[in-house]
Amino acid sequence: MDRVMTSGVSRDDITAHIKEQADIVQIIGECVELKRSGIRFLGRCPFHGEKTPSFTVHGGQQFFHCFGCGESGDVFSFMMKYYNLDFPGALKELAKRYRIELPERHQSREEEERSKKRELLFAVNEKCTALYCQYLQNAPGAAAAREYLQKRGVGKDILSRFRIGYAPPVEVAGWNYLGGHFKGAEQKTAVLAGLLVDKESGGSYDRFRDRIVFPIMDIGGRVCGFGGRIVGEGQPKYMNSPESEVFSKSRLLLGLYQQKEEIRRQNEAVLVEGNFDLISLVEHGCGNVAAPLGTALTREQLRLIKRFAEKVTLLFDGDSAGMKAAERAVPLFLAEQLPGRVAFLPDNHDPDTFVREKGLAELNRLLGQAVSLPEFALNRMIGEHGLTLDGKSKIVEELRPLIAAAASPLQRSVFVSHFAEKLGMAAGQLDAHLGTASRSLPVTPVVPAVAASRKVREERSEPLSMAQKQLVEFMILQPKYFSRLAEAGLRQCLAGGLGEILFLQQKSLLDRNPDAEPEELLTVLPEGAERNLVASLLLRPPIRSLDGDEERQKEELAEELADLLQYLRRVHLKKSGDELLQRMQNAERDGNSSLLQELLVEQVSIHRQLHDQ
Ligand SMILES: [Zn+2]
Repeated sequence: MDRVMTSGVSRDDITAHIKEQADIVQIIGECVELKRSGIRFLGRCPFHGEKTPSFTVHGGQQFFHCFGCGESGDVFSFMMKYYNLDFPGALKELAKRYRIELPERHQSREEEERSKKRELLFAVNEKCTALYCQYLQNAPGAAAAREYLQKRGVGKDILSRFRIGYAPPVEVAGWNYLGGHFKGAEQKTAVLAGLLVDKESGGSYDRFRDRIVFPIMDIGGRVCGFGGRIVGEGQPKYMNSPESEVFSKSRLLLGLYQQKEEIRRQNEAVLVEGNFDLISLVEHGCGNVAAPLGTALTREQLRLIKRFAEKVTLLFDGDSAGMKAAERAVPLFLAEQLPGRVAFLPDNHDPDTFVREKGLAELNRLLGQAVSLPEFALNRMIGEHGLTLDGKSKIVEELRPLIAAAASPLQRSVFVSHFAEKLGMAAGQLDAHLGTASRSLPVTPVVPAVAASRKVREERSEPLSMAQKQLVEFMILQPKYFSRLAEAGLRQCLAGGLGEILFLQQKSLLDRNPDAEPEELLTVLPEGAERNLVASLLLRPPIRSLDGDEERQKEELAEELADLLQYLRRVHLKKSGDELLQRMQNAERDGNSSLLQELLVEQVSIHRQLHDQ
């Protein structure tokens, strides 16, 4: 075990201690508006955009769960997810907050080196951000840059909000302006960060020169890398830091850190392509905006946005490059099941020039007219190929990757019928076309095997009767009484359906942890019908008033339990009666009169029990 003890306290003890001390309701309450609802708190999930709250926090169990996206965990997992920390980082953060001293953890050498390296990269990026900012604000050598920004209408607030800086040109500050501020390990790290470039002859020179520099931050606000736009003449116009241990272009979005609260508030993100488009929109009052870093949008970026909004609108140039970019994005949106729309700017405009010339109202009008991405793609295809027989078959071919990107069988069939209608075909016909052609093409399977088998299972399993529903509900919401119900034949009563699956899941959960809360069942259930059923049960407001008389509540609960146990007994007796009848018929057929006598006695007893109920 690579743990060391400090004054007799192990890291595990500390973790448990912090978990005990940390008030999960308070910690989450700082990021999410929470309202009490019974024993739990309810709010809008910070990990996926939503309008109606389905994010619950349990103070007692120190546990959160989102019924919308399924995120759940304890205070550590919340810190890790929300602030983008690793476990030691979350531990450190909470320890600091609750003034708990942390013993040193003995990491493996690799671990230690890696985390040291990351810390250094962040530190160097931070220092660089400050240097470039200062230079832009004060240095005489930045006069042209300041003038340029002023001309583009970038105000002081925006400069400081985005921590925009300036990397001086060679003529003013030489090749080693930034390098001159870094020594030793910092200098080496600055090379790794791509801020400095090693020279073959030894030494290094600055990568960014004569550029307005935008720090690119993660969700926690740490600077991961930079994007720079040239001020004078020169190529390339835009340049990013190279990929590093802390900088990955495909996993970050410019402006998300600064604008995420506004994106969350509006439950929609507007994505633009350029750095100046982004800040110009913010400057003019369109705050729910972010920008990918000069490359095509990725699924990781969409996933990031999904944590804050349920909808995305792409605001692209109306030229063919903009159209292509929008089209490439369609399968990503489908695969992430994120409703995406696209709005195109009129000719010779980008978002920056458009909002500066026409203002926010016009921009909002344009955004309001955005069309859904699949719609846009289909219209483009119809425009190109027409709706002749030949055109349609070309369109079907082009639709294939879009339909293949559907995230679920349900989504796929929705698309197929939607597109079929647009093309004037029957859905089955389109499906068949896609099917036949796909046999001749190497297409990767679209529907994960699990999802497919689950669908089959759902279709096969019997729907629950009213009584079974009540039993399942009680079994899930009152785990304390699980064993009583189990003894009374709950499983037999639920056999062959959804209820039995839930029974087995609940049983194994309670076998492991007899004090498990109802919500914990969700964490062990895969996505699907069972999970949806449990989620809907848990999300319903409690019927019994939890603020009411405790004695009365106990009585109500006891009454309900008694009713259910009685019902289970009746089911059991009826089943025994049916079996008995079968045996009696067999005995009669075999002429076994002594057995028949015995069975008759049993039958009388069963009937009496049923009547006594
Ligand atoms: Zn959620």
